[in-house]
Amino acid sequence: MMGKPPWMPEIKDELSQLEQAGRIRSLFPTEQGTEPVLFRQGHPMVNLSSNNYLGLASHPTVVQAAARALEERGAGAPSSRLITGHDPAIAELEAALAQWKGTEAALVIGSGYLANLGVLSACLSRRDAVFSDRLNHASIIDGIRLSGATAYRYRHRDMNHLERLLQQADGKGFRQKWIVTDSVFSMDGDVAPLKELADLKEQYGATLMVDEAHGAGVFGPQGKGVAHHLGVADAVDIHMGTFSKAFGVYGAYIAARKEWIDWMLQRCRSFIYTTALPPAVIGGIRASLELVQSGQNLRTALLDHSRWFRRRLQDLGVDTDPFPSPIIPWVIGDDHAASAVSQALQERGVLGVAIRPPTVPEGSARIRFSLMATHRREDLEQAVEAVADITGAFGRESV
Ligand code: PMP
Repeated sequence: MMGKPPWMPEIKDELSQLEQAGRIRSLFPTEQGTEPVLFRQGHPMVNLSSNNYLGLASHPTVVQAAARALEERGAGAPSSRLITGHDPAIAELEAALAQWKGTEAALVIGSGYLANLGVLSACLSRRDAVFSDRLNHASIIDGIRLSGATAYRYRHRDMNHLERLLQQADGKGFRQKWIVTDSVFSMDGDVAPLKELADLKEQYGATLMVDEAHGAGVFGPQGKGVAHHLGVADAVDIHMGTFSKAFGVYGAYIAARKEWIDWMLQRCRSFIYTTALPPAVIGGIRASLELVQSGQNLRTALLDHSRWFRRRLQDLGVDTDPFPSPIIPWVIGDDHAASAVSQALQERGVLGVAIRPPTVPEGSARIRFSLMATHRREDLEQAVEAVADITGAFGRESV
């Protein structure tokens, strides 16, 4: 029998330190019931921790389209896209995506994580500079690291800081400057100042990439995203989005000028060296895209929920941002306290997961509530009552 690797004691130590710090991550079996209910250890709970914002993951049209594609074209794709995996259904989906986003072309990529990793590392190199909001998603941070570009991280949504950094970089001989931002920030639910970013991009001759993971499907005409909602879509060079959230399926896209997409076929390693998405996923996404485009009623229901829930939390002394995204953090601060609050919510039949550092900055552990169009008002009332109860029980100062 082989011996234990010599670094195993270090791993054990680190795991026990994480445990003590209230930061250990673990998996909890979670069964989906009829939305928005799920089960943990047999207990039903209202799910306030889902990215399935429009409820499309279980929409019969999406499920049937996925099932049909599975029956007709099998369980898996034969290979990567550049070998024999370029199913005509994917080409058709990409044409529909480009039309929806109003760009010359679009490319489907395996997941949002892979898209950010691949696009940034394909387009940027040591000769380039990239300006990234401090609260951007981990996949953007990792893509920038992999690219080797000089990274400037600007304070969250702070355009003065960004401009100072752009000025600092001027004259340093960078080949390109890229500005990259989430449109809706995944752990805060607030929105990037895209108009101001578009102005700075113009002024400093930069390229602008926007991650609409939490904006697509939820904002803008036909759910095109925040950039369209704010009327600055044409200033965005690379639109990125996922099918894993409002679309309720899996996978991701980028939409951009044809040259960028052609470049991805040559250089985007997370696109080139991986198997194409399975037919059922493509079939599901295709049906979901139509529902997203025609889903204004779902978006209205979701935004109404978001405004209502934000007001109720605000009444309870929880600070909420005015932008009505479906992501609503309840910042607790301490890691142990955030886990205890999550547990207390679950005891009251509400699933609100605790998010702790390093996913969020030190001292800002939180419950990340996320809403769905398919919630009923009484589900949200139950959550508000649970929050009120917990705030009372723990004492307002300590939560
Ligand atoms: N970007 C953002 C802003 C996200 O929140 C996420 C998912 N948490 C991703 C990218 C990654 O998307 P996916 O889950 O499709 O890999």
